[in-house]
Amino acid sequence: MARPAPYQTAALVLRAIPFAETSQVVHLATPEHGLVPALAKGALRPGGEFQGGLALGALGEAWLAPRRGAELEGLRRFRTQEGWRGVREDLGRFRAACYVLELLRGWMRPQLPLPGLFQAALTALRAADRGPREQLASWVAWFEARALAATGHRPRLDACALCGRPVARGAVFSPAAGGMAHPGCAPPGVRLALPPALREALERLYTTRLAQWAQEPLDPATLAQVRAHCPAPSNAAKGVNSPGSAAAGPALRNSTSPADTSRRRK
Ligand SMILES: [Zn+2]
Repeated sequence: MARPAPYQTAALVLRAIPFAETSQVVHLATPEHGLVPALAKGALRPGGEFQGGLALGALGEAWLAPRRGAELEGLRRFRTQEGWRGVREDLGRFRAACYVLELLRGWMRPQLPLPGLFQAALTALRAADRGPREQLASWVAWFEARALAATGHRPRLDACALCGRPVARGAVFSPAAGGMAHPGCAPPGVRLALPPALREALERLYTTRLAQWAQEPLDPATLAQVRAHCPAPSNAAKGVNSPGSAAAGPALRNSTSPADTSRRRK
């Protein structure tokens, strides 16, 4: 049998743990290969191929070699392209970037390609690194929405999330149902009102590009209300399935075709 072929990919360092004397175990987020755990042999050796070791959050080009039967792939080389200087020099930006990386780590699975999620993380990190500082909360909310949409958790707003029929006056927003629902369809539990202005803001959060979103930022109170109508990203991450699992998990049950929806509405 042929050995698995080495490959080259864009990658973001989500975790970097010292290993043995001079090596590191790293977790890399990649657009097409999902989460890749890898061993960077000799990464901490001065003057080596890795320039003293991989830094958390670094974005770069990775040269990887899968090893048959081994959980860790071999990281042969990593060329850092972006070290996020703005993030390193400002505590607020640093915290926003850490949150983005943490969410990404929660969503990524080995061998599960989520290129939309990877790109959204890069866009959010660039904004956190060098965009206007007063909009940090707004960008974090945008990334949460993008991450939810890319993984099939976008709330349904155009019809009842449970029966699919149009919704009219009296409909409620049910987080458990995954969006709008008829009062008779909504499961017991939290039911929120969704006034038209808030619904419009929610729709905009899930559909606009970051550049447009940044041009008309929401005031903090509206932003907080909008976020209250989104699934908790850390909970939703538990519903992400690894490839090969038989059917969509409970969190994906109510979405018709999440991947298509997010692509179409980008
Ligand atoms: Zn219904």
